Amino acid sequence: MKRIDDILIPHYHYERADKISVQDILSWEVKAVAVDIDNTICYDATTKFIGDCEKWISNVKQSGIPIVILSNATTGRANRVAKKTGLRCISMANKPATDGFFKIAEMLDLKVEEIAFIGDQVFSDVKGANTAGGVSVLVDPAKTELSFYFFYKYRRMKEKPVRRLIAELEKQTGVPHKVKEVVKK
Ligand SMILES: [Mg+2]
Repeated sequence: MKRIDDILIPHYHYERADKISVQDILSWEVKAVAVDIDNTICYDATTKFIGDCEKWISNVKQSGIPIVILSNATTGRANRVAKKTGLRCISMANKPATDGFFKIAEMLDLKVEEIAFIGDQVFSDVKGANTAGGVSVLVDPAKTELSFYFFYKYRRMKEKPVRRLIAELEKQTGVPHKVKEVVKK
């Protein structure tokens, strides 16, 4: 089997963003959270929330944990989701490029390693967060993407062996949702 790069392995894995409790976030020892939009809090290419994600966002906010949006979505749509949730937002982030991750840190006046980045894509959300030095949290995509159909079909195919390894590692840690140790700088 081809070796899977550690940069693709998240620190934590959850089925869905709204399954992440405030207690879980506190256990990650971060000071803030940045969430992706497409297939993480909203169905792909829409502004329609997945499950209880809208309520989940307001619960996180109420707990006092700062939460913002980091998305590759177009500015118009990302801003609509930001407005609905009352969250600050960086759109067209071009993840896995690390610029957006550092912009979020600047926005929050924190170090990137003090922020958990939640997203559904191994090759953009996890890779970018890990490269930047943040805490990476992978969720399962809510639905098959119909936008950029072939791009995503290929990308999700490439994710398969990585997600298999993630599931194995998660079992090995013996801690629910924990895939690997966060190495503090
Ligand atoms: Mg996404």
